[in-house]
Amino acid sequence: MTPVRTEGWPQWPPPAGEEQRERLLRVLDSGKWGATAGGETEAFAAAFAHSVGAAHGVCTVNGTVALFLALRALGVRPGDEVIVPAYTFVASATAVVLAGATPVIADVTATLHLDPEAADRLAGPRTKAVMPVHLAGAPADMEAVGYVAERHRLAVVEDAAQAHGARRHEREAGVLGDAACFSFQSGKAMTAGEGGIVVSDDREVYERLWSMHNVGRRIEGAWYEHPELGWNLRMTEFQAALLQPQLALLEGQLEHRAARATALGRALEEVEGLDPVPAPAGTTRHTWHFAPLRYDPPAFGGHPKGALLAAMTAEGIPLDAGYRSLTHEPSLAPYTARMRPCPVAEAAEDTVVWVRQPMLMADNAAMADIARAALLVQQGFRQRPFSR
Ligand SMILES: *Cc1c(COP(=O)(O)O)cnc(C)c1O
Repeated sequence: MTPVRTEGWPQWPPPAGEEQRERLLRVLDSGKWGATAGGETEAFAAAFAHSVGAAHGVCTVNGTVALFLALRALGVRPGDEVIVPAYTFVASATAVVLAGATPVIADVTATLHLDPEAADRLAGPRTKAVMPVHLAGAPADMEAVGYVAERHRLAVVEDAAQAHGARRHEREAGVLGDAACFSFQSGKAMTAGEGGIVVSDDREVYERLWSMHNVGRRIEGAWYEHPELGWNLRMTEFQAALLQPQLALLEGQLEHRAARATALGRALEEVEGLDPVPAPAGTTRHTWHFAPLRYDPPAFGGHPKGALLAAMTAEGIPLDAGYRSLTHEPSLAPYTARMRPCPVAEAAEDTVVWVRQPMLMADNAAMADIARAALLVQQGFRQRPFSR
């Protein structure tokens, strides 16, 4: 039988543009390949920070390291604790471990974002920071997180790795906490293959970030003067050259994906048991790193999520299984504190699937294909209910 969709899906990143080629070659021919020699990285950091309304930005080798730097710049030290949500990319927690601190895993709400009440319960005397994640590109409930942070005197690090251009109540992700971290890894909305940035409005935080990412130097200091403890965590000029032109493209891409997400939601109204996971109330711009869908096995003859993924892939629709709850990551267990079950995040393992960003770069007919395939799979599943 022919699959519902035989056409492929858009590639990500999109094909390189003329300006990217020119800028890359300019850096290549300049011989100034490192950020301490050329000016591309510094200029991009300023432009990106400006685009999210933050005063300062420091580019880094990747998003994980950006989180590590932000935590340290805000005073997190070995032995401290940092609250992270259970449903996120593992790097949110491993960045905490990298800083020598201990992740405290908190459950999420129905939107799959950090549950502020869980964070409030878990904060203790050693807790120094909280890391809300703007999952899928929808900002976390930053007012509630801010309230918890104030109560317990916590620094707030936004994990905005998936949220370039996101807004909550029309305020940009990037200025909703004390510092915010974005990723430019190859799957992200803006990418140079790898890369990251920390932005902050606070000049002192910026100077610490800058120093730590540049081997402990001072901004106007000498080359072999290292008053701070620091590392070489700098981005290259090539990465900045690839990224700069994407700033102008981002808005259009976000609009494209928002329109696809709306079309997908409409198409899925016909499919019982496969429903968009709502974004937090107050999301005024979602960046759609992925569209999370809630799968209800009883509506599909009781077949488990894995069967849905396999059947959809056979129809030309490669959905994604998404994250495991961080409470189920064996590598993290020895490094966490006060680990408790996180029932909402753990249930998501069996019930949440994603339509990823590149698929949302396709057209509306492709969104209809997703719903058509789901209906067909559902028919088949109902005729052969699952039995173990
Ligand atoms: C991608 C990502 C990171 C890590 O960024 P890298 O650039 O891959 O190191 C951290 N947190 C979240 C939520 C991410 O999606």
